[in-house]
Amino acid sequence: MSEQVIWTMLINGAITGGLAGWWKGRSRLIWFLLGALTFGFALLVLVFLSKNKEEMDKRAVASGKAKICIGCKEAIKPDAVVCKHCGTNTIALQREQME
Ligand SMILES: [Zn+2]
Repeated sequence: MSEQVIWTMLINGAITGGLAGWWKGRSRLIWFLLGALTFGFALLVLVFLSKNKEEMDKRAVASGKAKICIGCKEAIKPDAVVCKHCGTNTIALQREQME
């Protein structure tokens, strides 16, 4: 294999590894490095890994696509009245806290 082919595989592995890691809510840097070291084969591992739920929730809240339930601390839709996880009425509780 020529040196150019190896470099191309290394860079492709690093970029796809980093992107896939980010998509799964995991560290971009670690998966960037793993992708480079394994020429992209780290992707196969990522496919079988579940998404990092805590990180995905954090991102959703930061982007306004979710809010955290005051009853169970799970991420729910921003306009949800009743939590889908624990059944807490989020509007009523918010009103009580304001009074
Ligand atoms: Zn809840």
